[in-house]
Amino acid sequence: MSERKSVLVTGGSRGIGAAISRLAARRGWRVAVNYHVNSQAADEMVAEIAAAGGEAFAIQGDASSETDIVFMFAEIDRRFGRLDALVNNAGVVDRKARLDQMDAGRIERMLRINVLGPMLCAREAVKRMSPVHGGHGGSIVNVSSVAALLGSAGEYVDYAGAKGAIESFTRGLAREVAMEGIRVNCVRPGTIDTEIHASGGQPDRAARVAPLIPMQRPGTAEEVAEAVLYLLSDAASYSTGAILDVTGGR
Ligand code: NAP
Repeated sequence: MSERKSVLVTGGSRGIGAAISRLAARRGWRVAVNYHVNSQAADEMVAEIAAAGGEAFAIQGDASSETDIVFMFAEIDRRFGRLDALVNNAGVVDRKARLDQMDAGRIERMLRINVLGPMLCAREAVKRMSPVHGGHGGSIVNVSSVAALLGSAGEYVDYAGAKGAIESFTRGLAREVAMEGIRVNCVRPGTIDTEIHASGGQPDRAARVAPLIPMQRPGTAEEVAEAVLYLLSDAASYSTGAILDVTGGR
């Protein structure tokens, strides 16, 4: 078994996840870069990490599908032989809408990707990290959103509710496995300049909300990645169940 620690970053190929994959590799982690549909972005991330002397592989999978999740973790077992950390980063928004305009299919999709998937990934991680299952501890970081606090009225209350669930889940799981050497924390980004806004039909969103942010600018994916890597690292050894705001003061 390699001495080098390994991490799975869901949605690790673009946006915030790409910044996390890149920084994790730079800090010495071996990285499993999960993606859903855009294999080119994932391959480019893996090539970039390899060119810088790091170790990574791309792994396709829908991070809201139990079958795909179980496959991904088995693949990490095969490729890395150990799993020390999980970053539940993959997440989606939908079009701006009021609740009375949403159908069940949309709400279910929001909950599957933003809540069910992270919970199932954390389950698979705990099965590998907990001494109850023969593991040696580890670290999990969930990516929430300031939407969990603000509620996103008139925009996407379904997404905001899903992120609120992830924060409660973080606190609960942290306490459940605290004595098993597993830390579970959460990063709560504010508005970050990535393609997620365009995917929700609002490509100008980051610039538009900037005046509402005390720092008067959107954050960068790299600024979120720094917070995630801190919580993953031993430097955060006494933090579990914590939620770290990266919001520019919002
Ligand atoms: P992004 O730029 O849209 O990137 C999304 C990433 O997630 C891509 O790598 C994508 O892979 C992957 N992905 C999407 N659905 C997936 C699925 N079902 N299974 C596996 N991978 C999937 O998003 P982002 O802005 O970096 O957001 C990352 C996280 O930060 C999300 O949890 C989001 O809610 C949260 N967040 C973002 C902001 C913001 O302002 N950007 C603010 C607060 C919180 P493919 O390319 O293959 O589709």
